[in-house]
Amino acid sequence: MLRKIVLSLSLAFLVFGPVLAQEKAAKPRNIILIGWDGAQRAHVMECLERGELPNLKQLAQEGALVNIDIVTGATDTKAGWTQILTGYNPEVTGVYSNGRYRDVPKGLSIFERLKEHFGPDFVCVAVIGKREHCGEIREPFKRQITDEEAAKIQAQQQAAAKAKQAQAAKKQAAQQGAAQAKPAVPAQPGAGRQQIGRIVEENGVKYLVFEGSPYYTMHKACDVWEYGLMEDEKVGTRAIELLEKYKDRPFFFFVHFASVDHQGHRFGENSKEYNDALISNDTWTGKIIAKLKELGLYDKTLVYVTADHGFNEGATGHSYAPYVVLATNDPLVKRDGMRQDIAPTILARFGLDLSRFQPPLDGEPLTQPATKPVLKAPETPPARPKVQAQQPGQGKLRKQAAPVTQAP
Ligand SMILES: [Zn+2]
Repeated sequence: MLRKIVLSLSLAFLVFGPVLAQEKAAKPRNIILIGWDGAQRAHVMECLERGELPNLKQLAQEGALVNIDIVTGATDTKAGWTQILTGYNPEVTGVYSNGRYRDVPKGLSIFERLKEHFGPDFVCVAVIGKREHCGEIREPFKRQITDEEAAKIQAQQQAAAKAKQAQAAKKQAAQQGAAQAKPAVPAQPGAGRQQIGRIVEENGVKYLVFEGSPYYTMHKACDVWEYGLMEDEKVGTRAIELLEKYKDRPFFFFVHFASVDHQGHRFGENSKEYNDALISNDTWTGKIIAKLKELGLYDKTLVYVTADHGFNEGATGHSYAPYVVLATNDPLVKRDGMRQDIAPTILARFGLDLSRFQPPLDGEPLTQPATKPVLKAPETPPARPKVQAQQPGQGKLRKQAAPVTQAP
């Protein structure tokens, strides 16, 4: 009987070809989520057509390349990575945009879910390129203040709001005119301003309240949480070191590259610099995959590459940029989806029972047919009570949504 089983197994391998595809369809031991912050779908598709992203192409050939649309939350970094790392809409996490957020309530992130499910031996790692909007750790803060202090803070906030308006007008004028001069102090491109805090009154006592950063609580679930590395080389090198360190334990890695978003803010989405940054992200993605192969882990590791938002066509911002992709070596990914579907995909592939989650996840795994409508983002932003000034080229897409590609 045993011999018969062995024989038929060998036959199965001969008949069904490489073992790799079968192992990839099985439950993975490890998952790596790689972020290409600000990678616009149309630009990624053009790079793929020109053969500039060989590692992304290879992943897609082994698994899938699908469209991801952003239909809830802002097309920015805080809203993006929070949604990708939780599977929830802003109404649950409290993270709507870079300017409207809080620390994500305890227990909702991929990291916390995996630690709870697998226990402390399971490794969670985050290596993050940004120092603002993705990865920063700021504790929620509340301090009692006097009426005089409250009045002073309110005056400061009013002055700051005025300055912001003036700055926005100046920026728009500069964008319409020639190239914008670089600021004297190098700041993270697109990082915006520091939050001032808000005044709340409880039982007649005034408090100054700062929300925590979205990542404050979830970061505590991780064995390693590093952010602010800025350069792709630093992010990639550190991720590879940590793969070596944790190779003997099952893991989930979140590796975040910031250069595409940074170059987009500096030089615009149609610039050579933005294109070069996509190539750099692809190169480092390839080095991470090569390390997995060297360690003998690639066959048991699923890799997902995605973005928090795209870029306004030809512009230096992403005020409305709802089109990105997900490329993966996961052959079970079968359909287009929304930004909230990525966390459920990862958690379901690790074998967690999503139906037990409270509150229920907003997203659904891309490995199963959707039970809720899979929405597509409209080309122009849905009407809002307060509409921001449009940037040049906004809403004009070079290319329509790309078709779903499956493994050959
Ligand atoms: Zn940005």
